[in-house]
Amino acid sequence: MRTPVVLVWLDCVAGDLFVDMYRRGRLENLAEFFEKGSFIKSAVSCFPTVSESAEGGIISGFFSGETNMVGERYFSRRQRRIKHYKFNARAEKDFNPRLRRKTLDAIVENSVAMGRIIHACEEVVDLVATRYEREGSFKIVERRIEVASRIAIEKKPNMLFFTISADYISHVHGRRGDAVKKFIKRFDESFPLLTEALDQAYGRNNYMLFVFSDHGSANVSKHLDLPAFLSEEGFNPAMPDLLTERREANAVALSNGRRVGLLYFTHPEYGWRRRPSYKILRNYPGKGDLLKLLAQEEGVEQVFARKDRRSVVVVSEEGEGVIEYDFQSDRYRYRVVSGSDPLKYNIEPRWMSEEEWLKATYDKEYPDAVVQIYNMFKSENCGDLVLNAASGWDFWEPWDIPYPELKASHGGLSKDEMVTFILAKGPRVRKSEIEYARLLDIFATIASCYSMEEVAAGSHAAERILSGKLD
Ligand SMILES: [Zn+2]
Repeated sequence: MRTPVVLVWLDCVAGDLFVDMYRRGRLENLAEFFEKGSFIKSAVSCFPTVSESAEGGIISGFFSGETNMVGERYFSRRQRRIKHYKFNARAEKDFNPRLRRKTLDAIVENSVAMGRIIHACEEVVDLVATRYEREGSFKIVERRIEVASRIAIEKKPNMLFFTISADYISHVHGRRGDAVKKFIKRFDESFPLLTEALDQAYGRNNYMLFVFSDHGSANVSKHLDLPAFLSEEGFNPAMPDLLTERREANAVALSNGRRVGLLYFTHPEYGWRRRPSYKILRNYPGKGDLLKLLAQEEGVEQVFARKDRRSVVVVSEEGEGVIEYDFQSDRYRYRVVSGSDPLKYNIEPRWMSEEEWLKATYDKEYPDAVVQIYNMFKSENCGDLVLNAASGWDFWEPWDIPYPELKASHGGLSKDEMVTFILAKGPRVRKSEIEYARLLDIFATIASCYSMEEVAAGSHAAERILSGKLD
């Protein structure tokens, strides 16, 4: 039998907060369990920093534009309507069909999940947990662990994959709020119940356990209403509160996680039937340069647009840069073309591999942007323009009011949102502290354990935590 895999997905826990608590010895049970395991201090999430992109990445080793998971919402040009995974779209239907047979679900088989978005295995729906999640109740922690433990003992799945969401808590109380600390602490307190059940189900030290967060969050206090902005600029935007066919609209602005914006525009001649070219976006009839127009807004940090198959442009209020990809060498280059660097990288322009870019930028203000932004535009669901919100800002829309107060959002490219952590332990996992990785590297580690290294080799995921020898 292959090593069973357990993935504990803490939704929206800020990486720096968790790492602080862990290193200061405040999470005793986790520290004891993972003492002989691997601790990845900076695990770079998948952009945009919403659960959809992260889940797509972890189950396949590919970025959002390749898995087709560019957010919780997108605009379908073909159907001329906004598609939302909570309401009128299904993530597993949109997930890139070419990757379907190469996902964790396909490799591991016999999986059970709770709280996943891309449904590709047996799903346990826990309505009590759903209620706790919606109310932001801390009881979610014990409930999830209790039910997961029961599933492990009763069903012994090869893969058990479940979420414990701190999303509501983080949004309402702020990314490092006391409530989030309490959530993490409660998770640590309940953790032994889970490992006891796993020991009973699979045998001690006989399973691989991962604990990680899918993305962090950024504190916000100011909101830019993008559809209202487009209206003021003379567009007729589709209001995102009505998910129906929108023939009359000539623009759409959708936020995802509230800090990334996807903007779509009609082609001046062909309407929604054709995507406006880069040239048109930079000189839109009657409006001028849409990239500059949006980059000038106070709430917008960067605007991204695909120039051609091998380049993506980055525009901020003060400058412009270009990301280039070389198909032959599989390397990327980033250079500033005017003004100051919109990504604030200060890196000499040269061709670098994905691994080199990760190493060079995981601790920068916008981690892994070069590689991930380039790849995001591969999806037909991606906006013509992608916006990253400025520090302290998000793109909250008036219809969207499930929270008494919104103190933190995510979706954006900032370090606060992009960097999380991974704890891992298993029969082949070596004792190590690792400086950086991508969240989607979890895919490569699991694929390795299941002797599917060649599948991982074709993805972006890199194996970093297993010891060399097979025993
Ligand atoms: Zn959220």
